[in-house]
Amino acid sequence: MGETTMKQTLRYEQSPFEIDYSLPGLLRMNLNENLVLPASFVRKTLRECERRIDSRFYPSDIDDGEMKNLKALVAGYCGARENMVELGCGSDQLIDLLCRMKLGRSTDELVTVRPTFSMYALRAKRCGARIVQVPLGFSLVADNPFPLKTGELASACRSENGKILALASPNNPTAIQYELEQIREILDSVPSRVFLLLDEAYVEFGRYNAASLLRRYPNLILLRTFSKAFGLASHRIGYIVSSNRDLLDEFEDGFQYPFPLTTLSAMLAGELLRAKKAILRYAEETKKLRGELIESLRLLDCQGFRVVPKSDANFVLVESPHAEKLAKSLLRDYKIAVKYMPRMIENKSFIRITVGTRTMNTALLKALREILGRL
Ligand code: PMP
Repeated sequence: MGETTMKQTLRYEQSPFEIDYSLPGLLRMNLNENLVLPASFVRKTLRECERRIDSRFYPSDIDDGEMKNLKALVAGYCGARENMVELGCGSDQLIDLLCRMKLGRSTDELVTVRPTFSMYALRAKRCGARIVQVPLGFSLVADNPFPLKTGELASACRSENGKILALASPNNPTAIQYELEQIREILDSVPSRVFLLLDEAYVEFGRYNAASLLRRYPNLILLRTFSKAFGLASHRIGYIVSSNRDLLDEFEDGFQYPFPLTTLSAMLAGELLRAKKAILRYAEETKKLRGELIESLRLLDCQGFRVVPKSDANFVLVESPHAEKLAKSLLRDYKIAVKYMPRMIENKSFIRITVGTRTMNTALLKALREILGRL
């Protein structure tokens, strides 16, 4: 374990080389956006919501106001009560505010793993807090390619300054969901003053969710987003769920703005929750395409190109000493953006690829086959 010093781990989802998003025909397989849900699915609902809104008025949190409706629908979706939910402007904002709330002193510590989503360390650092990172294991032949060292994590949290334990499950960039039993074990062994911020951004593509633990553990904060399975990344909608009303009151009264979402975002998210059956069908479709993509990438397995055989998210990982060359050539020669992850773990470099439609995945595989043939 160690404190973060590397600048590289403290940049937000940044590509080491420039990607021109205005490039016509660019395939954006680099940001884990939802490429499988058709844009038209959301657009139709968006137009209906727009028609109902009077833009002169603030969003409403009372009676059947959009915020209150959305909280109730989110609670129903998570099997929680409405007063266990707070909304935010994307999970990024919620991470930021929770760090500000819990990491007030320079001795306070945020514990997390490495590699993981950069935002936890970024915002904790902004608060002047210490960041303790416990490295994940790595083995491409094991059942679990990136094992979590629960004992080390728990002992890091037992430091008297431990305030937040931030875990993404499924994790970004490893795409692995920790076992529910491990999450329970961690919650049983960390001091109750340490909050487990369990980021379930990709949960709809995973194997389970941890909502069943909420009532038993008041130090558990589930963090979710509408940016992935619900395909609303541009609308910036996230939420936290916790059974700890004191924590949520402190958050609502002292940290969150009065109107973190627009009326349109709240209404749209609510409508998509009402259509969750269809949304979850697209998530299932994504999982199927993910399996096919992994199998096809395995056929390309050769020296210097190894696919991580497991994923619980809407992206897959490939390890290669040629990762930079692959990513650059995909972009330059085929207009396919993937995420290059230099020295992601144990000094090995990877590319992270968002699962696309079958057409996108086929284009990616063809391009990779050609590039590997030229190496
Ligand atoms: N958590 C994880 C693990 C992520 O990978 C991301 C973004 N890719 C986020 C949170 C941010 O999501 P949002 O769009 O809700 O800010």
